[in-house]
Amino acid sequence: MSVFSHKHFANHENVHFHHDKKSGLKAIVAVHNTHLGPALGGCRMFPYATDEDALSDVLKLSRGMSYKSAMANLALGGGKSVIIGDPRTHKTPALLHAMGDFLQSLGGQYIAAEDSGTSVPDLQEMGNKTAYVAGILNKVDINGNTISGDPSPATAYGVYIGIKTAVAFKYKSNLEGVRVAIQGLGNVGMYLAQHLYDAGALLTVCDLDESKLNMAKLRWKANVVRLNEIFSCDVDVFAPCAMGGAINDDSLAFLKAKIIAGAANNQLAEVRHDQTLMKKGILYAPDYVINAGGIIDVSYEGPDYSATIARKHIENISDTLNEIFERSKQTGLPTKSLANQISEERMSVTNTTRSKKIAGALKRVAS
Ligand code: NAD
Repeated sequence: MSVFSHKHFANHENVHFHHDKKSGLKAIVAVHNTHLGPALGGCRMFPYATDEDALSDVLKLSRGMSYKSAMANLALGGGKSVIIGDPRTHKTPALLHAMGDFLQSLGGQYIAAEDSGTSVPDLQEMGNKTAYVAGILNKVDINGNTISGDPSPATAYGVYIGIKTAVAFKYKSNLEGVRVAIQGLGNVGMYLAQHLYDAGALLTVCDLDESKLNMAKLRWKANVVRLNEIFSCDVDVFAPCAMGGAINDDSLAFLKAKIIAGAANNQLAEVRHDQTLMKKGILYAPDYVINAGGIIDVSYEGPDYSATIARKHIENISDTLNEIFERSKQTGLPTKSLANQISEERMSVTNTTRSKKIAGALKRVAS
């Protein structure tokens, strides 16, 4: 298994592998870029078929986090971690403690948050061994309720804002009567479905979990379809909210939606699919731009947390997407390529200048 010559290596600063024999932990931490600040990103637990699959995943996700934080105007770099194993059967307190020890040994260059296969309690368990976990503190939400540190509601809110923005751009309309297909009713998909339903959208959903589908039928009058039927549904928006790679040659052959806007990371199976979407007249909200709500919210974590300030910052996702959509229309460049270009420009600015800009941006958000 090569690392430096790996096709997704993309100039990573550090890639750490760890095995703890006692707990059975096998984990990889990838730190893509710390130019704008410490690398913050989720810790995913998944039963990868091969070590190579785990490495590819963590490298792609880690790079995406650098771009995500840069686009969201955060003083953070990009990193990600993966634990190789089935979260339903391999997760034990000993394994989570071993992961905590591993994170601690990296001295803060990478800070972990929850992701697919891990939860806030899992991160709290790791937090018994390390200071380098985030998204674990309770906070007071916009309605004055105390909620957990789970970033998923904030991610879902950002995706909802992003879908609203894309629909307004493409169809010059609000969400009333707009048909949205959600692939995956997990931590994010569930909250997203509620926002969309409240705004009058008509939902089509799929998931592996029958109980979630039954709930979606009852709560949102959702049209439930089989996993492979979700792509060919006659809808306006396709919202991938399960795993990466949903947009590929197979799914594109069936896709009817003219907007793709969802929470999943790395939605495009290949870089070239960006161009394909543009040619097909499909408006694509770049994944790491639209799904930044969670990391924005986590970046405000602490004793001074204000849900109002965090929410205003999340709502800036709309301005960022509008800028990308408009520039894409003017230049003929696909939206993801444009977003990459903008993020890379931001990552190349020196720390001092950048910090001043971020401070300015945050001040604007707060005012
Ligand atoms: P999750 O694991 O809670 O939910 C994923 C859901 O998708 C589950 O209900 C699962 O049963 C379902 N699923 C899996 N494979 C499927 C398939 N082939 N078809 C349909 N459904 C399928 O994860 P989550 O936290 O909701 O995150 C969803 C996606 O969004 C992930 O790609 C994640 O990386 C990304 N994301 C999440 C956050 C966050 O704050 N949680 C932030 C940014 C990005």
